[in-house]
Amino acid sequence: MKSLKNFKTGDKLKIDSEDKGYTGILMPRSELADEKFIVIKMDSGYNIGIEREQIKNITLIKSEIKKEEFKLKKAVPDENKPKISILATGGTIASRIDYITGGVHSAFSADELISAVPELEEIANVSGRQIFNKFSENINPGDWIEIAREIYAQIKKGADGIVVAHGTDTMGYSAAALSFMLNTPVPVVITGAQRSSDRGSSDAAVNLIDAATVAAKQIFGGVFVVMHGESSDSFSLIHPGTKVKKLHSSRRDAFKTVNALPVGKVENGRVVYFKNSNSYKFFSGQKNKELKLDAKLEKKVALIKYFPGMNEDIIKNLIDRNYRGIVIEGTGLGHVNENLIDILRTAIDAKIPVFMTSQTMHGRVNMRVYATGRKLLNIGVISCEDMLSETAFVKLMWVLGHTRNHEKVREMMLTNYAGEISGKTNID
Ligand code: GLU
Repeated sequence: MKSLKNFKTGDKLKIDSEDKGYTGILMPRSELADEKFIVIKMDSGYNIGIEREQIKNITLIKSEIKKEEFKLKKAVPDENKPKISILATGGTIASRIDYITGGVHSAFSADELISAVPELEEIANVSGRQIFNKFSENINPGDWIEIAREIYAQIKKGADGIVVAHGTDTMGYSAAALSFMLNTPVPVVITGAQRSSDRGSSDAAVNLIDAATVAAKQIFGGVFVVMHGESSDSFSLIHPGTKVKKLHSSRRDAFKTVNALPVGKVENGRVVYFKNSNSYKFFSGQKNKELKLDAKLEKKVALIKYFPGMNEDIIKNLIDRNYRGIVIEGTGLGHVNENLIDILRTAIDAKIPVFMTSQTMHGRVNMRVYATGRKLLNIGVISCEDMLSETAFVKLMWVLGHTRNHEKVREMMLTNYAGEISGKTNID
């Protein structure tokens, strides 16, 4: 592999690879970048990744081009286009923008955004802001509130749509949290990237463009995730924020709508709705929603997965440490070992509501079918119907942020606020 030790970020280089020559400015390494590639910014403004194995020769043309010399495209406002606000929170997708300025924390201005992804200018008048720069595994419930507040402020200032760039690992949790905390008349679209921007196979640009398309064109509000619909670049899917889950660690089409159908898809710049899907009906039926932010969360809530051999200790510990609510991801129709019934009764008696989701992910919890389920119902465990475990967990935080009255908690958990509980779906 060709060594880069004689060259610095910002150097203008001529690189001869096996098949072609390239001239451009050496970009900084993102923490997420693939070691086998280097990224240069060409005169056209585009960044390309070149496989280091393929490089035959590197020549220095000019050393250390200053940041001020980077040519940024100037955003030209067009009053006929909608206004969208792109908010960055970190993750792989953010590194695409970082390459523009060479900074680790870019200013994320409109000029930087359209220079990194020029297609955005065709879609809307974009503005941008970096809220923070975190891998999504480091995002906590307090961060959801910060994101929700910023979205609220941007919509209040007149944004016709919002795009949130987010790491993919915990995107589903954040999407669910924003779904409950925000009542929004305009689309809030979360997107990310599975492959870093120095790879030819990066999905960063297409996901950002398709998310911006939904933010700019969709006439109804709600919180959605827009990500690749299949492994090629042919279309992206619009997932409801409360029913979406990352189901693959690396594929570009990792995100799926679970227990429902997506709202629609983005193909060749057009939004096509799946009009028979409950998700489409739910969100499109909610026109003229008033903008509201309701970001109260009770953070002492636990999501635990049942495993064979689980004993009382875990639940006892949650009771002792004053947890306010528990979601258990049980087996099948919603079961745990009968040995846990006594400790669960103790939790419920201590006013800690216990909710049940299923490890099967698909289908509904139904605790009336088997004796174990009926015993759990009898002690007061509550079924989460067809909610994803992550969604039930986030929703319980939000519900307990409003009330600790057991009946009210049950009633709110079983109310469909953001498309999280499907009626009978056409995929059951
Ligand atoms: N694991 C990190 C995250 O979720 C990086 C990968 C990504 O952006 O998807 O933020």
